[in-house]
Amino acid sequence: MYASLLRENLPRVRDAIAEAALAAGRDPSEVTLVAVTKGHPPEAVSAALDAGLTDLGENRVEELEGKVARFRGAKVRWHMVGHVQGRKAARAAEVAQLIHSVDSERLAERIARSADESQRSVDVLFQVNTSGEQAKYGFSPAQAKERIPELAALSGLNARGLMTMAPLTEDEATLRLTFGRLRELSNDVRERFPTFGCELSMGMTNDLRFAVAEGSTMVRIGTALFGARG
Ligand SMILES: *Cc1c(COP(=O)(O)O)cnc(C)c1O
Repeated sequence: MYASLLRENLPRVRDAIAEAALAAGRDPSEVTLVAVTKGHPPEAVSAALDAGLTDLGENRVEELEGKVARFRGAKVRWHMVGHVQGRKAARAAEVAQLIHSVDSERLAERIARSADESQRSVDVLFQVNTSGEQAKYGFSPAQAKERIPELAALSGLNARGLMTMAPLTEDEATLRLTFGRLRELSNDVRERFPTFGCELSMGMTNDLRFAVAEGSTMVRIGTALFGARG
């Protein structure tokens, strides 16, 4: 079932990314498709791998650990895209190749400490709440400007860039503003911390076109690939 879903959906998603990129004068290959398998069984992961997807995302540490264990040895980069509780920081750092959702100073410090203790460093993105919605995790833009350049320097962290989540709306102006703010913030942070990475993780099923138009380098897509979650 997942194989046939992907046969239909993957070309559509790839076309949408390419179209939005070209319209913005960008090279579609600048945008990595992270297939979000959360809420779907291991068959979804198998089908994704068979379809040639190599970047897969999960939003809960337990589910990520389960799938990583099950697909050990497969050629896949696992992305942690959801909120990580402090007490699970070390576990997330252990299994994810990129944590998109470093959303507080405390979490940044905990991940850095656990990585440092095992003499590794972990690739991370800092999550910024550029929509201003109360319920969203992440640094405020003001905090981000002030604190992220310092946190990025922690031993144990490789700061690859920034991540944001847009509000649930179809309104183009709101979405573009939310994504555009992250791009501007990235320019700002990189001025102050030149080795800070330029990844911009933004765009989900409902807003991927606007995210790509505003400079996204990683879109995190679940529903448009695998259908609704149970
Ligand atoms: C679930 C999730 C996605 C994918 O959402 P869709 O709307 O299904 O594409 C992307 N990012 C995060 C952080 C998520 O939790």
